[in-house]
Amino acid sequence: MASSKSTTTPDASGQHELLIIGGGVAGLTAATFTARAGIETMVINDGETVLRRNAHLENVPGFPAGVNPRRFADMLRAQATRNGAEYQTGTVTELAGDIDNGFTATITGGQASDDTENATVDGENTEPTRELTADRVLAASFPDAEFLDGYDIDTRTADSKQYAEAGELGRTEVEGLYVAGRLAEHYHQAVIAAGDGAEAAITLIHDSDIPFYNDWVAPEGYWTDRGREVPPGCEEIDPTEQRARQEAAMAAMQEYFAASHDQQQRTFPSLVDDERNRLDWER
Ligand SMILES: Cc1cc2nc3c(=O)[nH]c(=O)nc-3n(C[C@H](O)[C@H](O)[C@H](O)COP(=O)(O)OP(=O)(O)OC[C@H]3O[C@@H](n4cnc5c(N)ncnc54)[C@H](O)[C@@H]3O)c2cc1C
Repeated sequence: MASSKSTTTPDASGQHELLIIGGGVAGLTAATFTARAGIETMVINDGETVLRRNAHLENVPGFPAGVNPRRFADMLRAQATRNGAEYQTGTVTELAGDIDNGFTATITGGQASDDTENATVDGENTEPTRELTADRVLAASFPDAEFLDGYDIDTRTADSKQYAEAGELGRTEVEGLYVAGRLAEHYHQAVIAAGDGAEAAITLIHDSDIPFYNDWVAPEGYWTDRGREVPPGCEEIDPTEQRARQEAAMAAMQEYFAASHDQQQRTFPSLVDDERNRLDWER
């Protein structure tokens, strides 16, 4: 069920207002904010967040006894799609374009959730490629984003990683192109990645023409009792709506935590011959 805040309507032509590259902690948190602000948001994700390799997540706010990281990752994705973001799998291999002409991402493999937009078979390669176009792009992938190579963005290489320099609040030197999370070389902690995704998303919302004050849900009368308009991005809800949302939230949480998660964590990908088969879990 989508939140009543969402005004997102997918564009049937395949043109998106925003493409988020990477559906991990930063990307999915960003998607929740942009979709809730009414920006038509497509997340493209090629595999799994590194958080799924964690054994038990114990330092994310709101879970005093910790939480299964794969459950947490599932819930992050559900939160983004529930608020109106779309989600597809695939690897972004190339990015081109700019804010004036639109950005085009070339995607290899994976699956489009609705139809395979512009799907082609790429020469010898049997993996189908497709293109997605968007007005803006937020990159929140791993710190090895070759698809950014065509852009004049400051990068820093360390070990096998290549980080993209995030300017002020997630902007880059390229208008309309934002970076967040590990790719932007922020601390390797889930809550930092989430906050960073949210910050870049709110910057992007401010840079668009959408009026926005804060993403807040307040009780009925919070502003209007003082003769004020409800600020853009905010809403007031009455006690009936508040109760309905709380009951829906309780039902959803009971479902998420009714049983233990059935997916094991993978180990580090370079451990290719693991006799305990810890790389072969179904994704
Ligand atoms: C073993 C382990 C344990 C950890 N434990 C903790 C912990 O206890 N507490 C804590 O706070 N943090 C922990 N972390 C760190 C935390 O998981 C990361 O800091 C966080 O996931 C970073 O978020 P992110 O969104 O930047 O990257 P990710 O969450 O990794 O998301 C990046 C996403 O981008 C996708 N992607 C990459 N390239 C492409 C591409 N070209 N096209 C499309 N998609 C792409 C990836 O598949 C991935 O889903 C742990 C990490 C590991 C590895």
